[in-house]
Amino acid sequence: MDNLNKGEFTFSNDTIKNDFELLREALDASLSGIIITDNQQPDNPIIYCNKAFEKITGYSRSQIIGHNCRFLQKDDRDQAERAIMREAIKKGDHCVVDIRNYRLDGTLFWNELYLAPIKDDQGKIKYFIGVQNDVSRRKKAEEELRVNQTKMEQRIRERTQSLRESEEYLASIVQTVRESLIVLAPDYTVLSVNNHFLRTFKVSREETEGKSLYQLGNGQWDIKELRKLLEQILPTNNPVVDFEVTHDFPHIGKKLMLVNAHRIELEGNYKDRILIAIEDITERKSIEQRKDDFLSIASHELKTPLTTIKGYVQIINRLMPDSADEKLKNAVSKTTVYVERLNNLIGELLDVSRIQSGNIELHKEPFDFDHMVDEAADSIRQANSSHEIVINGSTDCQFNGDESHITQVVTNLLSNAIKYSPDHKQVSVHLSVVSDFIKMAITDHGVGISRDEQHKIFERFYRVRETQQRFPGMGIGLYVCSEIIKNHGGTLWVESELGKGSTFSITLPLQEAKGAENAG
Ligand code: ADP
Repeated sequence: MDNLNKGEFTFSNDTIKNDFELLREALDASLSGIIITDNQQPDNPIIYCNKAFEKITGYSRSQIIGHNCRFLQKDDRDQAERAIMREAIKKGDHCVVDIRNYRLDGTLFWNELYLAPIKDDQGKIKYFIGVQNDVSRRKKAEEELRVNQTKMEQRIRERTQSLRESEEYLASIVQTVRESLIVLAPDYTVLSVNNHFLRTFKVSREETEGKSLYQLGNGQWDIKELRKLLEQILPTNNPVVDFEVTHDFPHIGKKLMLVNAHRIELEGNYKDRILIAIEDITERKSIEQRKDDFLSIASHELKTPLTTIKGYVQIINRLMPDSADEKLKNAVSKTTVYVERLNNLIGELLDVSRIQSGNIELHKEPFDFDHMVDEAADSIRQANSSHEIVINGSTDCQFNGDESHITQVVTNLLSNAIKYSPDHKQVSVHLSVVSDFIKMAITDHGVGISRDEQHKIFERFYRVRETQQRFPGMGIGLYVCSEIIKNHGGTLWVESELGKGSTFSITLPLQEAKGAENAG
């Protein structure tokens, strides 16, 4: 067989010789390395190799022929593929393996080796043909792919882990908050609730999750106001903030709830789910009610003896002879001032409780607005000689309203302007008519109010923390003022800059707004 390479065959038939030549050249033209081993000789020596085999391995024919092909593995003998090959050779089978081989210069290449036996007529193996391709590039790409895949899997594992952690973290927050939370599917099926919900409404997770909200606990959540919120308000007004719902639950009794709801608009798995947070404000409301009741009773109880005291002080004033001791005169005059102050405070407290209970009464009659402001300013001037009150502009209007209440507003705003500007002595009042509204603006150059506080100062009992130590007060004046103005269909607002001063403005409609007449 070795003669095949040397071309030393002598054939009687030229055609056969030419065919062999042709085959040999064809094998040399192949890009795959091809070898033939002789199985009949000891240690299965290579008896043929083509040019491509020499090229792939870097060995020359003289270094290949006669050797067992194991030299290609050099010292890298423990490859599992070698066992596969041995087994195939033993059984006389075909096999394909990817095996690490080494070129003459020691460099590694991956050999995709196809081994096929050649048997004689009796089926005895005579030769093996080995066809090899250098698949190092493919192997490298495969290896890179594998490394990338491993990296990717690792990253996915890490991401999944961190997602799971943040999910658990969020879930534990949801379970810890002291508000009842419900997640609803778009068809109002309860997807999940937190522990606080279960505790507050005395239900179990099993009888809640997966059920329609309206069917929970024999329809106890089929509440008219809640239906309205979910089906009418939420779709047009997402989110819904602080919606009050009252309901008498079978097991836990009457509850006043503050409901906040939000429909998820983000495209994706959670779209159109509805999140509901329920705060049970039954207790809070009842405490507030008790506080209001106390305020109302206390101020009424204080008012009666004070009216008597005021009457006696007036009698004392009348009966006081001109010749009376100066000290006594002074004491009586101070008592008069303080009784009046106390009277005003109690009057304000009574106003608050009247507003709270909706019992504020308006006695409307037309009055001269500018004259009313002049009078109010005069009485303030008498009590506060320290400040100058300047009135600009005029309305020249008869306003149809409750004069004593509107006077109370002007007096209150002027007193505040003076109280909160101890270092700047001028307060100005500007009167005008804008369209069909009376407008009055009172400006001071005092301590001012920060932007954050500006909307809070109209709440009852609210006082700005920085100023409450410096200036006396109860934080109800502006609340009463804004209610009075509201009841006349007008508006009261403030523009202010901390440290520079404030302007409190009111507008009052000259034409009776619908509904304002009956307000209060
Ligand atoms: P009170 O003056 O009794 O505290 P008000 O309801 O009249 O109550 O005012 C509420 C709060 O608004 C005050 O505590 C004060 O902090 C702030 N405020 C009101 N008027 C002025 C003003 N002209 N300048 C600065 N702060 C003011």
